[in-house]
Amino acid sequence: MFKNNLLNSKIYMVIIMNLSKSRYTLGIRCLKLLWLSLYKPDEVTDSLNENVLKNGNEVGELARGLFGDYKLIDFDLGFESMIEETKKSIGLYSVICEASFNYEGNFASVDILRCLDDGVEIYEVKSSTNIIDLYIDDISYQTWVLKKCGLNVINSYIVYVNNNYVFDGKLDIDKYFVIKRVNELIDLDKVDKNIKLFKKTINSDVEPSCNLNISCHDPYDCNYFDYCIKELPKPCVFDVGWRLSFNKKLKLYNDGIISYNDLINCGGLNDKQRRQVEFYLYDKKPYINKEVIINFMSSLKYPLYFLDFESYQCVIPNIKGTSPYQQICFQYSLHYYLEEDGKLYHKEYLSDNYLGDPMRGLCEQLCKDIPFNSCVLVYNDSFEKTRLKEMASLYLDLSSHLLNIRDNIIDLMPIFSNHDYYVKDMGGSFSIKYVLPSLFPDDESLNYHNLEQVHKGTEATEAYLLLKDLCKDEELKLRKNMLKYCELDTYAMVKIFDKLKDIK
Ligand code: SF4
Repeated sequence: MFKNNLLNSKIYMVIIMNLSKSRYTLGIRCLKLLWLSLYKPDEVTDSLNENVLKNGNEVGELARGLFGDYKLIDFDLGFESMIEETKKSIGLYSVICEASFNYEGNFASVDILRCLDDGVEIYEVKSSTNIIDLYIDDISYQTWVLKKCGLNVINSYIVYVNNNYVFDGKLDIDKYFVIKRVNELIDLDKVDKNIKLFKKTINSDVEPSCNLNISCHDPYDCNYFDYCIKELPKPCVFDVGWRLSFNKKLKLYNDGIISYNDLINCGGLNDKQRRQVEFYLYDKKPYINKEVIINFMSSLKYPLYFLDFESYQCVIPNIKGTSPYQQICFQYSLHYYLEEDGKLYHKEYLSDNYLGDPMRGLCEQLCKDIPFNSCVLVYNDSFEKTRLKEMASLYLDLSSHLLNIRDNIIDLMPIFSNHDYYVKDMGGSFSIKYVLPSLFPDDESLNYHNLEQVHKGTEATEAYLLLKDLCKDEELKLRKNMLKYCELDTYAMVKIFDKLKDIK
């Protein structure tokens, strides 16, 4: 009796893991990643950004209309019912979205399936603006499953976003999407071999012992990276900043050059990277290139403005003249000194045009707040300069003023990215979020963690996109915290500027 129960429970425990297209592509990236995603899901460092998911869903839904009316197989049905529903729909509908199939435990849902007289076409929709190899693997797997299910797959296509598309007031999905036939890139023998290997991997309780490899970083940063380097010394070669490429770090790692002690004795670092390692190992005092900093400070003139924008990216543009993924500015903070050693002033703008164009109001206010020919300090000028140029091309009546602001921008970041001021705690980063606490370690007023609700740029973006759905009280509270966050960004620049001013 007891033996039988044990046997039954053992049988119950043996669950054969199946493949899906997302598992298949994880396997393509790295066998260990595929295995970890099933057996150690809690070890991930970061889950996928909400906005990335939202963009993907919006683009997927939009693409469904590419070929006119369609039958949608509802994802909420569950996989078995989706497959049944698909079987019933083939022959009745010429376009089926989320058409689902299973061949011997290999599941696939096709974003868009077109049923023609002599066979079917598969369309895989991506929200990106180019095709990467992984997309070919993805559609190859789907093609394999459908062929095994007995369908005559005539063509396989990748549908992706045309980043040259400009919204003219009416969305044209035929121009918004690019459709590329990829039949000749599909290798079904390769899929066959991969499926056997991936099935074996996911049905084993032994973690694959994969070395760190280029898939840890390319085409995406792997969410298991921290897990996979947990046995390495801290800090290690992967913590070196100053643009040491991942390929180069990987090569050093494979050559056994891993700890900072290993690195200091190898010849593979440039001066800045070496300085980062040396400052850490020998606990060196701050390095300050006085000559460069004094010259930089003497190039500034008053009134002096400190500007920072917040923005979001809109994958499906809804503002006339904008393109997919264009950054849409909705907020700025502006600190300023009218004269040297004078009083510090602050102005700010946060749009309430949540459903329309937030940039027009922002530009009008910005042109009132920053007079012509003013010196404007920013941190990382490429962002603000590009936004100003884009907005100048949208609002021709404000164009000359916006371009004048742009032409008078001076970037504070090179002082730190060029290592003319380096403190050990910057740890190889020149992001203001690292520079600030390194220069003012004990100043709690500059600590982003002390802010409420919004602590970083991505949270500001999410907050703005949320505002339209909030009740008045919640909206006001969130707006207040968004303003505080952005204000700290420019106040941080003021504090850094003041510190540099003291260097004689
Ligand atoms: S970090 Fe690298 S080795 Fe580890 S699971 Fe990810 S891709 Fe594989």
